[in-house]
Amino acid sequence: MASEFPDFRLGAVLATSFTGTLSERHGTPVERIPTPQRLVDWLAVNGLAVGSCTPAQLDLARELRESIHAAATAAALQKSLPKAAVRVINDCSFQGRAAAILTTKGTRLWRLSSPASVEDALSVIAADAIDIIAGERDGQLALCASATCRAAFFDTSQSRSRRWCDMNTCGNRQKKARFRANHGKPSAAAGSS
Ligand SMILES: [Zn+2]
Repeated sequence: MASEFPDFRLGAVLATSFTGTLSERHGTPVERIPTPQRLVDWLAVNGLAVGSCTPAQLDLARELRESIHAAATAAALQKSLPKAAVRVINDCSFQGRAAAILTTKGTRLWRLSSPASVEDALSVIAADAIDIIAGERDGQLALCASATCRAAFFDTSQSRSRRWCDMNTCGNRQKKARFRANHGKPSAAAGSS
């Protein structure tokens, strides 16, 4: 894997893992799919392998990503969903072709059309976003407690008390900040994420 790019953050929920390819939206944004090839890599890691990606398809993917982020944020705040975002999500859901496949091991795979296109993969992500925003799955949308992040994530904890979109980055950073505050150390070397 190319180390020149930020690592992927892998989560259990496809749609919010996808919105997590951009983090620190309210700080110094970290873009994890800066090139078409990086999107191809991300899709492969998430079981949605496609052959290629054009710059226009990367733009479409990012448009879907920000639309999911906007709609999920509105849902978390119990506000009405932004119409433009809903339209993009629905268009992406409708435009691609993908079928759920049951394996003999009892797991689910996605079979995209042949040859598999970015649009096919985006349709799976859009449908996943629709599921969680529409409340079709057990869990609740919430916003990350980090002021520089505020990412929408899907809380499936029993108590619905999860605070961070990602324990390894936002949660960890907060823990370190608290530690420094408690121990009176200067906050040097905060570093970038
Ligand atoms: Zn966060």
